Amino acid sequence: MKGITVLGSTGSIGVSTLDVVARHPEKYRIIAITANLQVDKIVAQAKQFNPEYIVMANEDAAHQAEGILKQEGVCHIEVLAGTEGLEKVSSLPQVDYVMAAIVGAAGLLPSLAAAKAGKRVLLANKEALVMSGQIFIDEIKKNGAELLPIDSEHNAIFQCMPEKISYSLSDMSVSRILLTASGGPFRDRTLDELENVTPDQACAHPNWSMGRKISVDSATMMNKGLEVIEARWLFNASADDIQVVVHPQSVIHSMVQYIDGSVLAQLGNPDMRTPIAHAMAWPERIESGVENLNIFDVAHLDFVAPDFDRFPCLRLAYESLHKGGTSTAVLNAANEIAVDAFLNETISFLHIPKVIESVLNEVAVVEANHLDIILQADSEARAIAKETISRLNR
Ligand code: NAD
Ligand code: MG
Repeated sequence: MKGITVLGSTGSIGVSTLDVVARHPEKYRIIAITANLQVDKIVAQAKQFNPEYIVMANEDAAHQAEGILKQEGVCHIEVLAGTEGLEKVSSLPQVDYVMAAIVGAAGLLPSLAAAKAGKRVLLANKEALVMSGQIFIDEIKKNGAELLPIDSEHNAIFQCMPEKISYSLSDMSVSRILLTASGGPFRDRTLDELENVTPDQACAHPNWSMGRKISVDSATMMNKGLEVIEARWLFNASADDIQVVVHPQSVIHSMVQYIDGSVLAQLGNPDMRTPIAHAMAWPERIESGVENLNIFDVAHLDFVAPDFDRFPCLRLAYESLHKGGTSTAVLNAANEIAVDAFLNETISFLHIPKVIESVLNEVAVVEANHLDIILQADSEARAIAKETISRLNR
């Protein structure tokens, strides 16, 4: 029986994780669930999964959740608040696996706490690796933790790698990683047509159902940019080892090319319960609730090169990765602020890359060898992004 903490249990990945857990009550037990402010949703989850702990982002939401649980006669669940609470439930001795599914930089410290406590980290929160890749990987190694990718592409790559992952791609005879991208809802739009797109249009992804932040990231293709950086750290690859391939059907979730000319791919229906179940059960397999792929329905698969002119966020991500140091943390922070402003209709869709590029040009890049330095770069980038946005609106 494995004890699991689900960070971000009320989100898209969190809900899919609980769905897989509910299919295997003899294998997994929920120890803790956490959410930002969605009190009603987490209380309903607590009643179904009977965890030992709930963590809410602030004291107010925690009091509310506690109040409702008490009213309903549920008194044995400890309700905590804030980052300290998240770090605690990521490192409890009875927790074996931590699903890191908080969106954005807020997920960094609790995911890192799981790494430090030597847990199996099921990593959906790609922003943690984008911000602090080297530190994160070092903590995983130093503390005997395991890092299993939940992001569907990285999970696919992991499945296509040799069983024993070595230090470098060349040691494994891998010549290239082919990272697939759906291209998002605006794949075929011209720049002119992108001028007036709305948040709801950006969030209507053709193949995947996801939270709003990652949906906008898919529409700008920043999601793919963040994933290139994520792949760099997960597989110790360089930017040049990773080729983005636009594959609109989202049936192949990524590929690995070997020096003998072989290309291995992982295929499946676009449903996150597959990578979640894979990472939970690894090296075994369990049922996930996902229907088998009907290969005849798929019929054909398309592949095209990405367009860096229409999707400048992808170019900015590659440039950041080349620059290294705190540059990717700055990219991530500026993106979070710009996406938020777009979702609140403060800036237009095409302003998102403009804000990010302007922040990248303003913030000095330094070596990212300490968490404090990364958090400092993150807050500086956020402040400058907000200034840039208010300048745009003046
Ligand atoms: P979501 O918005 O649906 O859910 C986010 C979760 O984090 C919620 O439970 C929310 O309450 C919690 N949260 C948000 N802000 C918080 C804060 N400040 N403090 C504490 N908790 C907070 O997002 P999602 O789509 O489930 O994505 C989660 C992560 O997984 C992201 O990093 C995303 O990039 C990654 N991911 C998602 C998918 C997908 O299919 N949804 C696929 C690959 C990777
Ligand atoms: Mg992905």
